[in-house]
Amino acid sequence: MHYDVAIVGAGAIGCIAAKELAKRGVSVRVLEEDACVGKQRKCTALVSETGLRSIGVDYKRAVLHRVRGAVISAGTAEMTVDARRPIACVLDRQRFDEECAEEAKSEGAKIFLRRKVRKLPKDSEWVVGADGAASFVARTASFPPISRFAFCYEAEYKNARVEDDAFVHVFLDSAFPGFFGWLVPCGNNVVRIGFGTQEHDRMKEGKRRLASLTSSAVKKSSRKLREFHALIPLKWRQETQRGNVMLVGDAAGQVKATTGGGLVFGGNCARILAESIAEGKNYEKEWKRECLGKLQQHALLRSVLDSLPPGITLASAKPFAPLLSRFGDMDSIIRV
Ligand SMILES: Cc1cc2nc3c(=O)[nH]c(=O)nc-3n(C[C@H](O)[C@H](O)[C@H](O)COP(=O)(O)OP(=O)(O)OC[C@H]3O[C@@H](n4cnc5c(N)ncnc54)[C@H](O)[C@@H]3O)c2cc1C
Repeated sequence: MHYDVAIVGAGAIGCIAAKELAKRGVSVRVLEEDACVGKQRKCTALVSETGLRSIGVDYKRAVLHRVRGAVISAGTAEMTVDARRPIACVLDRQRFDEECAEEAKSEGAKIFLRRKVRKLPKDSEWVVGADGAASFVARTASFPPISRFAFCYEAEYKNARVEDDAFVHVFLDSAFPGFFGWLVPCGNNVVRIGFGTQEHDRMKEGKRRLASLTSSAVKKSSRKLREFHALIPLKWRQETQRGNVMLVGDAAGQVKATTGGGLVFGGNCARILAESIAEGKNYEKEWKRECLGKLQQHALLRSVLDSLPPGITLASAKPFAPLLSRFGDMDSIIRV
């Protein structure tokens, strides 16, 4: 059977793109190397509710827990951002990806599992790389590389001791250069702890520091449920469309350089990609018009954060705590 579009990767973003295309009457197939959708789960999956609503996926069944703010610490200094109402969700990432896939299928998209793509599909008018940060499609079609990454580690524990599970903890620390550490409560005494760094050779040091920063929550009696290493792109790709090949989501580097969040930007760009194909517009121009300014804000803030010692970063941010509490949203720096 002939399909107008072949999407490589049935992660959340590939599936959202497939749904949005199918909805517009474009025939689409998605090729996924894994045996099931969402198997990788290499994500903390903390996403703002406003951001989730903007991508139009029915995420409710994937919600594990809700949080209302963050405690940000650097050494002994601390700042609390408190929205006083739940503003972000911690998701079961596999359940969320499955929901994205179900919605795509119900619009008529076809998803083929156990189909690792080793050559660019030639039998469709358009090929979309939604195959993650280390995109095979981008490499094969000779797109310019992504210039900045955070190297990340995360582990999930049960039987953790969480003082107040309405708050995420963010650790600014010199052991995590170019990124930060985190402890995200998932409800029922489950936590996700992790960190990122732009310096790969400091992963071991980062793990030691993370263990010490989270020792009051992760006890000997806690049990590790899983752990993983993964990359977060901290810069968008300079080019995301070349002939009939397009990139979206992590493959395009459509990720916030401040927090590493990619689901909201990627999801919105997936919709823009579908509109562009269906309406004969230039995808690269369209997504950059709508989203590049915001990605640039995050990149600028990341550069500022990278240039300051953690203690100074926190001290400079403190005067803005009330403003962030009132208007801050993880998916737009300040939503005013
Ligand atoms: C440690 C960590 C924490 C994060 N935390 C958050 C967070 O809290 N909030 C947030 O919004 N974002 C977060 N992110 C980012 C988020 O995970 C990504 O932005 C998001 O997963 C991107 O989705 P995607 O569909 O583009 O790529 P992926 O989720 O990577 O999906 C790519 C898919 O392509 C498939 N694939 C790859 N190669 C091939 C091939 N050759 N053939 C066929 N299939 C292929 C893979 O199996 C996979 O299913 C985090 C990332 C990391 C690493």
